[in-house]
Amino acid sequence: MASEFNIKDLCISEHKSLEDGLKILNETGRSILLLVAQDGALLRTITDGDIRRFLVSGGTLGSAIGDIGQQVSISVSCKANEVEVLALMDEHGIDQVPIIDDNKKPVGLHLRKDIQPRILLSVPHLGDLERHYIHEALDTNWVAPVGPNIDAFEMELSRYVGSEHALAVTSGTAAIHLALRVLGVEHGDIVLCSSFTFVASCNPILYQGATPVFVDSEPETWNMCPKALETALESFEARGVLPKAIVVVHLYGQSAKMEPIMALADRYGIPVVEDAAESMGATHQGRHTGTSGTMGIFSFNGNKIITTSGGGMLVSDNKDLIDKARFLSTQAKDDAPYYLHTEVGYNYRMSNILAGIGRGQLKVLDERVKRRRELFECYERELSDIEALKWMPELDGDYSNRWLTVCLLDPTKTEITAQEFIEKLSEQGMEARRAWKPMHTQPLFENAEYFAAGNDSYCDNLFDNAICLPSGSNMTDSELMSVIRAIRNIMLA
Ligand SMILES: *Cc1c(COP(=O)(O)O)cnc(C)c1O
Repeated sequence: MASEFNIKDLCISEHKSLEDGLKILNETGRSILLLVAQDGALLRTITDGDIRRFLVSGGTLGSAIGDIGQQVSISVSCKANEVEVLALMDEHGIDQVPIIDDNKKPVGLHLRKDIQPRILLSVPHLGDLERHYIHEALDTNWVAPVGPNIDAFEMELSRYVGSEHALAVTSGTAAIHLALRVLGVEHGDIVLCSSFTFVASCNPILYQGATPVFVDSEPETWNMCPKALETALESFEARGVLPKAIVVVHLYGQSAKMEPIMALADRYGIPVVEDAAESMGATHQGRHTGTSGTMGIFSFNGNKIITTSGGGMLVSDNKDLIDKARFLSTQAKDDAPYYLHTEVGYNYRMSNILAGIGRGQLKVLDERVKRRRELFECYERELSDIEALKWMPELDGDYSNRWLTVCLLDPTKTEITAQEFIEKLSEQGMEARRAWKPMHTQPLFENAEYFAAGNDSYCDNLFDNAICLPSGSNMTDSELMSVIRAIRNIMLA
């Protein structure tokens, strides 16, 4: 469907000045002009990029707009269908194509955003293997929780990440809750947690009636700053109350600096829960995220790099902790010939059907990581000339899963804000999002204590300037290139 506006408003004849052309762009709010001959036939399209290049190469506002030069005009007849138009846009790397009649007169304009499905941030990406395991579960009537897929999924995942034991549960949040519970976090305890994260990392601290205390990020990984952690630990040591646990988050697929964090945790004898919900498949110095701490958790929510539609996994090398968590995840039923309970439990166990999806997804995880890294590298490479954009770093020897491609706007080099950038992409049918809003700035945690990395809080800076770009592993090259073009248009406007 062509957008509704008067196409004549975009037409300009050759002898008009460049200034006239700019006025039209200004009045119509569009980024394209249609250069027409005396008889009204389309000669070519002129974009704001064409005008910029013309000015740079010596053109002036008074120059005739026709002097911009000839170029093969890409246009379609009224009869072209959307598939053909989209293919033409991809072939020529353009987002607008004029529609002409039999006399070559422009009668309309196709815009990519009207015909291309919306490009989303990160959508589930499932294949045939998953279907196979689900069918198998249905055929053998293993629909209830507990069943062969769950055991197999736990074993296959532990082997993949290199941890001794695993427990499949209903969500990443449930996994964090169980971890805190088996580590003995109780009412009134202090738990340290990364501030720059999604609220699911710390909600379970509240479930336990404990008090979260937040720790800032550092610039090299955007994750927990070891110096700020040290300051926090010294502060609590001085008060004579040590935190009961530390929740370290590996955001956007990138590991935190685990060696200094674990060294501090060990010095104070505090267990560490690694929230690797976003970093499945990522490694830090050769080791999978989630396996350096006392316990680690993964999420298979719909937007994560692999998904079971909803689910999570708790891993640890400590068998007792996982056994205790398994007991609590199935209503804490004591060993007796009837229903006997001495402790409060939960209904947190993953179902056998969903575990089947997980088994299929685990087999394609490496491919998914590869594709997400490719997307990141392509964004960074194709936009490397735009100085106002900085890209999420990666430590030497680390392998991020690049769950989301995140860039930072440099406010000293651009006026545009993260919010404006996202709204402009949205007008083009592309979904980008702000970074997580730090927990110490959330109304929910308004009285929580916070340890910043320095005089300025680093994660507040990340929140102000970071943008998460469309990063789904099922995004096509053509969709990726159209997002990149849209970003160029926004940043170079
Ligand atoms: C998604 C996510 C979680 C929670 O996982 P669910 O499976 O959605 O409960 C926890 N922490 C972080 C950082 C996440 O992104």
